[in-house]
Amino acid sequence: MSYEVLARKWRPARFEEVVGQEHVTTTLKNAISSGRIAHAYLFVGPRGVGKTSIARILAKALNCADGPTVTPCGKCDSCKEIVDSRSLDVIEIDGASNNSVDQVRELRDTVRYMPARGPFKIYVIDEVHMLSTQAFNALLKTLEEPPSHVKFLFATTEPQKILATILSRCQRFDLRRIPVPMIIQRLTEIAKDEDVAVSDDALLAIARGSEGGLRDAESALDQLISFKGQAITEDDVLSVFGLVSRSALEDLADAILRGDMAAVIGLVGALDSAGKDMQRLVLDLLSHFRNLLVCSCARDSAIELDIAESQLDTLCRQAEMAAPERLIGISDILVETDGRLRYSLSKRTLLETALIRCARAASAVSIEEILQQLNKLKKSGPPIGRSASAERSIPAVSTAPEASSTPAAAEVSNSEEPVEAGDEVGMLKTRWHEIVERVSRVAPLARSALLDSCPVSVSDDTLVIGFDPEFAEHCEVMKSARNMKAFRLALRDVLKRDIEPELRILKKSEAVVLPADVPATPQQAHDDDSPVAEKKSARATAGAIKEWMQNDTVRKTLEAFDGEIVDVRE
Ligand SMILES: [Zn+2]
Repeated sequence: MSYEVLARKWRPARFEEVVGQEHVTTTLKNAISSGRIAHAYLFVGPRGVGKTSIARILAKALNCADGPTVTPCGKCDSCKEIVDSRSLDVIEIDGASNNSVDQVRELRDTVRYMPARGPFKIYVIDEVHMLSTQAFNALLKTLEEPPSHVKFLFATTEPQKILATILSRCQRFDLRRIPVPMIIQRLTEIAKDEDVAVSDDALLAIARGSEGGLRDAESALDQLISFKGQAITEDDVLSVFGLVSRSALEDLADAILRGDMAAVIGLVGALDSAGKDMQRLVLDLLSHFRNLLVCSCARDSAIELDIAESQLDTLCRQAEMAAPERLIGISDILVETDGRLRYSLSKRTLLETALIRCARAASAVSIEEILQQLNKLKKSGPPIGRSASAERSIPAVSTAPEASSTPAAAEVSNSEEPVEAGDEVGMLKTRWHEIVERVSRVAPLARSALLDSCPVSVSDDTLVIGFDPEFAEHCEVMKSARNMKAFRLALRDVLKRDIEPELRILKKSEAVVLPADVPATPQQAHDDDSPVAEKKSARATAGAIKEWMQNDTVRKTLEAFDGEIVDVRE
């Protein structure tokens, strides 16, 4: 028996055998069984997803001895001839090599002759976008008034290159890239039939490498069988495709998320020395971080991701390692790097730099976050060391000790992270940013609203949250049921007990508690223009800087960035 390539041997013979394009095959079957067959179809999609396979099945369905039928027999002369590409009634034309006007004219002339055997004369034109404009125009003449015995089946990867006048005369079907799990399933069937042992990771690597094209995946398996024989490992696949292994990819993502620059550089170096394609690596990382983002923001949709089941655990674990904003930041850097890498001579250096930026984006606190935190500290009270006024800003703190006798508070003291009841406002203030993040994970709109608020006082069942009067509308935003629910949950996570937030717009006087030396009123701020005020303000700034230097968060921020306070502003 002669050797037949896998892609051909496994080419689908019936609509039911087409993988991953049910939306197309179902519609076509309905059209056939209801007798509403259009005279021109256009199949659009990336290479190897089944465009011409579907066109051939459709041709068989129309011209089968039993036809038109949704289940062509595959045994009659017409079906056999179509499978062997020798049917006189089904004319296959490759747009890429047959694009002269003469050839299309010839086509136009032959269209007039009746089919030799079947009821229809069917023209299958692959890569139809490659036809020249003149050829298109000649074709258009036929398309405008096709004889009833003629059907056109066009396939293209680039529909935007087809004339609108042609497009408008076709029924268009968009074929999808085939999802990884479906490709894996198909390859598993083929491997079993061919009696070849292929490891799961190897199957995943083939599916990844073929980018949604089943034909490419089948050809790759074919190539691997001739190259490796009856046992195929992930390493074999990776070396054929220049792909990076799943574990190496996950390790690299892990190092980036941990902010471990040394590990990042080490891994990139190793991959480069192993001859891996750096451009491909960036795309693989990009798709990995995109998956992480889905796991992080929409855990329920993770099941829809185009991944093998074995990847899900790692993805969920890594998604916990960084907030969504940072994952977006990393993806942005990777997109930019992908663009630059194409024109770069030193791909490895560029990639290293980019991944170090990613690692920093994963571990560093963003400027926005720092500004927000500083703002919060400023509003929630003066720096540590001014305990007298700090107490003033928390009027209800005295109610807290009573709370210690309630059951809820007793539970608190038993939990892993016991919170001194009297210190809850202080604790809430230091962890405010974290609470805001927790809330915004569930209710994104609450984020900006909460950033302009601060905890004011706490009793055993109520937490008073103050809003700056300037941002009164944020208080309204927070009152929505969804936001309040997310807020309650976040507070319970942090305080380890149920507490009802009470939202209150603060009076002007209590809204912002400032260090005494810093001018606060608009009048004073205006005076800053005068030289006297400048001196006064310089002195005030020096005082303010000194005070802020004693604040824990500020000090840590300065250490992290090796910075200094230059100015303190309202
Ligand atoms: Zn047949």
